[in-house]
Amino acid sequence: MNAEMTPIDMDEPFQFSCSKRVPCFNECCRDLNQFLTPYDILRLKTGLGMKSTDFLKEYTLQHTGPGSGLPVVTLKPANQKDLVCPFVTDDGCRVYPDRPGSCRMYPLARMISRSRETGKVTEHWALIREPHCQGFQQNIRMTVREWIQTQKLLEYNEMNDRLMEIISLKNQRKPGPLDVRSRHLFHMVCYDLDNFKSHIFEKGILNGLNMDSNQMESLQDDTTLLKFGLTWLKEALF
Ligand code: SF4
Ligand code: SF4
Repeated sequence: MNAEMTPIDMDEPFQFSCSKRVPCFNECCRDLNQFLTPYDILRLKTGLGMKSTDFLKEYTLQHTGPGSGLPVVTLKPANQKDLVCPFVTDDGCRVYPDRPGSCRMYPLARMISRSRETGKVTEHWALIREPHCQGFQQNIRMTVREWIQTQKLLEYNEMNDRLMEIISLKNQRKPGPLDVRSRHLFHMVCYDLDNFKSHIFEKGILNGLNMDSNQMESLQDDTTLLKFGLTWLKEALF
């Protein structure tokens, strides 16, 4: 890919803009190798008016990460020739308001480190320059902080940090492959929220927790359910 990565600070400006006017418009929506996070799936399936189970079947590929032993979900390209995103059209992204966090983040990369003592998350940023991307030639400047705001990335980052906490806990406490039950539970809670919901409200998977009716009712909301699920998973698995 010949990408060049340069560290950048939160309040440091960079020159970049992406719009229909750039000659490379839609170039980055091909050659896809797009991982989807739990929050990406929540947003996409909601925006498309689909159940998570149907979304996963129609738009994703799923496998187990060789290093982490955890289920991994990627976007299924619309064709195998140029691996184009299933959501790209001549007019741009047809799921733009709910596009994945990585599409919002580009051309930035975000890495985090978490203090073992306090749990405090520290962010590190880098600018990714790829030869095909002409956004850097556009005459618009903004800081990393402004980019995060305009791309509405805070909610994505917050949810992704919750996931990263589970992954690092898993690596510490259960390195290597997970058993089938744990893999299934992780997949359902993280990626197949509507299935998780039916396990809660129809099969009573949380009955042992003695939650009151208000707490139970709040889990009808997908974002609340995902936040709850990511916390519950830590207890249930590790
Ligand atoms: S989701 Fe939208 S922005 Fe992201 S790769 Fe697909 S078409 Fe491009
Ligand atoms: S390659 Fe860069 S400038 Fe071109 S459409 Fe993609 S992000 Fe925008």
